[in-house]
Amino acid sequence: MNQKTSVMLIATVSLAASVGRAESPPLRDEPQRRHRILQELGPKFSLHATDHFLVFFDRQRDWAIQRGRLLEKSYNQFYGMMHEVGWPVRPLRHRLVCILLHDRARFVEYARTTDQLTEHWPNGYYSSGTNRIAFYNDATAEPLRKLAAQLRGRQTQLDQLYLRLQGMHAPVRPVERANLDARIRTLQRQLDSLHRTQWLVVERANASKATHEAVHQLAFNSGLQQRGLAYPFWMVEGLATNFEAQDLNRPFGLGFDNPARRTVLRSAVRRNEMVPLEQFVVIVDPRKAAEAHRNLLYAEAWGLFRYLFEHHRPQLMQSFRSYATKPVEGGDALRRWFTDSFGPIDAVQARWMRYLGELRAFSPQP
Ligand SMILES: [Zn+2]
Repeated sequence: MNQKTSVMLIATVSLAASVGRAESPPLRDEPQRRHRILQELGPKFSLHATDHFLVFFDRQRDWAIQRGRLLEKSYNQFYGMMHEVGWPVRPLRHRLVCILLHDRARFVEYARTTDQLTEHWPNGYYSSGTNRIAFYNDATAEPLRKLAAQLRGRQTQLDQLYLRLQGMHAPVRPVERANLDARIRTLQRQLDSLHRTQWLVVERANASKATHEAVHQLAFNSGLQQRGLAYPFWMVEGLATNFEAQDLNRPFGLGFDNPARRTVLRSAVRRNEMVPLEQFVVIVDPRKAAEAHRNLLYAEAWGLFRYLFEHHRPQLMQSFRSYATKPVEGGDALRRWFTDSFGPIDAVQARWMRYLGELRAFSPQP
């Protein structure tokens, strides 16, 4: 989520497992709105509409349909859990808009022209200015391009070996033939493994950001958060990171594990690299931080939100209300507001650190 663009666990297992499809009144169709957005995006775009989302895409209808299913899943998890824990949310008033750009380059261009986002780091975002989410297919991201280059290299070697095999004329010494066969088998195994890695990395990155950005959008359209307000980083990103799904075959959302964030956080705890709560709770916009540090901040937001959800749930709900009623600005005021909501920062820090120390004992939910 980008704010400037105006752009938990054990106790909740049965809760989250019981979440079903959230009930809501049907949303009315909005042909004029659809038409206007299609006009704005240009002739390369098409529309895939789901029950609660309008997915505009520039390539690959199949991918758009899969993203639509994932967004609906995020909707069900979000509303289901909010109803289960009794947090106040209102039904959506209209379908939410998602812009899918297949290539990263086109995504960067869209982010720059539509939301004046010039940073290189976002791989997807929710803009409270346009009230849209936008992201690209991670298959076109830089690390995946490198993996694809490795794959192409291995495939070329394999093709050359097959050609040699075909070109061998009898009589071929058995040992020579066996050596060539063994090299082909090894290369084929490496290729299969690289393909699996590539598929997994792409799937996880795409699922994680779609669920993350969808939850920002749902929070700001359900009344849990108010558009136009700059929330503390821990609050807005803590909520979204707690809904990130990497493996869509497993349940996700509040109360479920997030192995990627947990791994970063546990490593920071071991190395004593955590940003102290005193400083962490006043962060609003960390975009200028280096990438590695930003990853740590997101992991801390995940861990703090999870801890507060488990151990200070009523206060956490109340903090959403109080912030929306009376937004807070400035470091000292944010620190005071946090203390008023959850108690003295030193005491919360001590309990939170104990909680994080035990986090390693938590296994992913079945
Ligand atoms: Zn975010």
